[in-house]
Amino acid sequence: MLSYKNHTEKISLLKEGKITLRENVSFFLERIQKYSHLNAYNFIFDDCLHQADLIGKKIKDGNAGKLAGIVVAIKDVLALKDRPLTCSSNILKNFQSIYTATAVQKLIDEDAIIIGKTNCDEFAMGSSNENSAFGAVLNPIDNSRVPGGSSGGSAVAVAAYLCDVSLGTDTGGSIRQPAAFCGIYGLKPTYGRISRFGLTAFASSFDTIGPFARSIEDIALVLSVISEYDEKDSTSQNIYAPDFSTNLNSNKKFKIGLPKEYFAEGLNEETRNAIFEKVEQLKKDGYEIIDIQLPHTEYSIATYYILTTAEASSNLARFDGARYGYRSKQSGNLIDMYVNSRSEGFGLEVKRRIMLGTYVLSAGYYDAYYRKAQKVRRLLKQDFDKAFEKVDIILTPTTPTTAFKIGEKSNDPLEMYLSDIYTTSANLAGIPGINIPIAKDKEGLPIGMQLMAKQFDEKILLEFGKYLEKNFN
Ligand code: GLN
Repeated sequence: MLSYKNHTEKISLLKEGKITLRENVSFFLERIQKYSHLNAYNFIFDDCLHQADLIGKKIKDGNAGKLAGIVVAIKDVLALKDRPLTCSSNILKNFQSIYTATAVQKLIDEDAIIIGKTNCDEFAMGSSNENSAFGAVLNPIDNSRVPGGSSGGSAVAVAAYLCDVSLGTDTGGSIRQPAAFCGIYGLKPTYGRISRFGLTAFASSFDTIGPFARSIEDIALVLSVISEYDEKDSTSQNIYAPDFSTNLNSNKKFKIGLPKEYFAEGLNEETRNAIFEKVEQLKKDGYEIIDIQLPHTEYSIATYYILTTAEASSNLARFDGARYGYRSKQSGNLIDMYVNSRSEGFGLEVKRRIMLGTYVLSAGYYDAYYRKAQKVRRLLKQDFDKAFEKVDIILTPTTPTTAFKIGEKSNDPLEMYLSDIYTTSANLAGIPGINIPIAKDKEGLPIGMQLMAKQFDEKILLEFGKYLEKNFN
């Protein structure tokens, strides 16, 4: 296995000449081959060894960037110039990107090595990574189980040591939930913290980009590099981004809130016990634990699925066979061409969402569904505002169960949607959240704890996350 725990240690080894970057990248490439059955990657980039040589030299010469030599995998919904961008969909199967996403460019500018693009649910719609035109991704801990989704490939690439860190996207839980199922760290930043330029839109007022890693340090490092105002994204916030890597060991006694709504019916017993065991320990360690209420929680899944499908139905209208992507070979007029291209190009779940979204936006139902859901979104946000008057951090389970079996929920969309029951609210409110791996269940499957904070308060999630990493791992 690797002889370093985080990027700082890796850089020391590289500087001392104990490893070379070429050996390190080859190590990952060999493992990607060996574990190809996990199906984590859609594409591997053949120039990464060449990059390793160039950046290895920069490290020796002392003029390398902050991420020098870190090996990164990126979810295949993020654009990288002259590389395929498929969103794991047949409709974009042969599409090459003509520009690079801002977040990815920032990594490259700091001398990261992009090793490939990871598998995901089609257009990031899913919770199990079974909705992919490239096939399902397997959980590395138990291959009969899902890795979570939609950023399943990005989570597996990190958990199975097929890269150092990865980027995923989180619209309703797609970073935190697969991180929980695979036993790693995964951070969904505040909406507006990281530019969405170059991220293929699913639900634009929910979508965020964030890192997966095996340590809090690496999460902090990547977050520091990719957080910056970007005029190319009109929702990017021009707000100060601290260096997230400093002072991680503050051991500050944050006030922790436990919302009772997140520990109600539906939560698996072992997960509940694991979380409460840690909470007890935190009390002993001198943390103030406060019971709080988020009374509108029960509406979060319904609200999320009304609003995100509405946005998706509009965003995905651009895939019509005319401009890019797949075009049906069937003959007919222009309308037939649109209909056939979309019918043949999109998978089932994507079609379900487009239809649902079109329905909630239709003239007769707009007020009853879309407008109402917007109002409930405001109420959910107000719940959090109130809670954060009393506490610094909200602590919950990340998922109601550990990783489920492949195929177990694929015929029951509602069951599948419920696996996001604890994660969608952070996206509805635009606040940051992180998964912290805290325990394993009887079968050895990882259990995750979710921490949420006020908008732009990622720093305290990382400081408290570091405390948990040090003491509970
Ligand atoms: N699983 C959720 C969904 O299917 C979340 C997806 C995401 O965060 N991209 O919509």
